[in-house]
Amino acid sequence: MSAHANNDWVARSLASVWHPCTQMQHHESIPMVSLSQGRGAWLMDHAGHRYIDGISSWWVNLFGHANPRINHAIKAQLDQLEHAMLAGFTHEPVVELSEQLSALTDGVLGHCFYASDGASAVEIALKMSFHAWANQGLPQKQEFIYLQGGYHGETVGALAVTDVPLFRQAYGAMLQPAHVVATPDARNAKEGETTADVARHAALDVRRVLEQRAEHIAAIIIEPLVQCAGGMIMHDPVYMQTLRALCDEFNVHLIADEIAVGCGRTGTFFASEQSGVWPDFLCLSKGISGGYLPLSLVMTRKEIYQAFYHSDITRAFLHSHSYTGNPLACRAALATLAIFKEDDVLAQNRVRGDKIEAALEDLKHHPRSKNFRRCGMIFAFDAQPNEQAGFARRYFAQGLQQQILLRPIGNTVYLMPPYIINDEEINCLATGAIKALEASC
Ligand SMILES: *Cc1c(COP(=O)(O)O)cnc(C)c1O
Repeated sequence: MSAHANNDWVARSLASVWHPCTQMQHHESIPMVSLSQGRGAWLMDHAGHRYIDGISSWWVNLFGHANPRINHAIKAQLDQLEHAMLAGFTHEPVVELSEQLSALTDGVLGHCFYASDGASAVEIALKMSFHAWANQGLPQKQEFIYLQGGYHGETVGALAVTDVPLFRQAYGAMLQPAHVVATPDARNAKEGETTADVARHAALDVRRVLEQRAEHIAAIIIEPLVQCAGGMIMHDPVYMQTLRALCDEFNVHLIADEIAVGCGRTGTFFASEQSGVWPDFLCLSKGISGGYLPLSLVMTRKEIYQAFYHSDITRAFLHSHSYTGNPLACRAALATLAIFKEDDVLAQNRVRGDKIEAALEDLKHHPRSKNFRRCGMIFAFDAQPNEQAGFARRYFAQGLQQQILLRPIGNTVYLMPPYIINDEEINCLATGAIKALEASC
């Protein structure tokens, strides 16, 4: 393929496709890449360049592009049943997936409700919590608590519990008010304080709100261990443990949004496992289909399910999406879970993660980098550029020159590579990351 072909696709895209999370005018100066193929950790463009996918294509791709095992599973399902409605019907892939996920929580979160994207899973958890309380005779429990720096998606309900000012600004007037509480950000630890101290301290802010308003509060929503879109803000597992106790004390639901941190990203399959407690609702999406197809789900407890189980239709959870429980997406998810088991991925990632951290040693101590942090297979640092404005875009463009795809959030540069990245690719990524930093600061 030629550079000409590449330019042609880019021009046509800019004329017809409205790209997400983008000021389209910025593409007058920053490159748009037209992809032709993906293989393993690499993405290839029409001009013949290749890039290591250092952020797993927005955190979804766990086992590489064009993974033979996932490809095979989807192809086989395609000849059986591509899709059917899930109301009144069921099928093998959705049953098996629900059973396997439930087993991963030892049956505690034994009921799975499906949707197609992460924001919808968050909407479902919020609505389910709200409606479960009403069904249990507590209709005044209608409010939600969310965290500073929290991100739960960009539909109107999910955005109402999201604290990313840039995403909220324009739509503030459309959003239902909710209570925002302190972030347990481990970087806030003062001299002599542990990250657990910071977490306990932040949880006091939750206690304060609950003491005032618990009878009106349905749930608190968190991203366990890492507030990802907020800038890879990491916190101690004690935080979720403390919240679980508070939620039990004040009769409030705990929603764990594991859309980004689930599926092994933090080192355990579910991030909640590191706190040793289960939430009342757990949202999954992104990695669950291996990065292949849109799929999301909410797992919940028997007691919540029972609150809807009744002869009266109005007490049912009345929520649906056309592609609920899509068989192809469920097959991709089953193939993903099979790889976790067959390859002992969590154990392998401990070794791989240590190698990545070692390869990032120079970055960690670089004068332009601060607050290097890691949680499982998430690595991040805060860049210290001379010129703050436009740093993320400059870094992205410089990264492409180094054959790597990294897309900082503000000044936070992070790596969230797929779980199949090999030693050579790790070194390319680490070397490229430092060169891009020096070129964009
Ligand atoms: C990405 C993300 C979402 C939203 O998922 P979409 O599929 O993009 O709608 C929600 N919560 C968290 C924590 C996420 O990282």
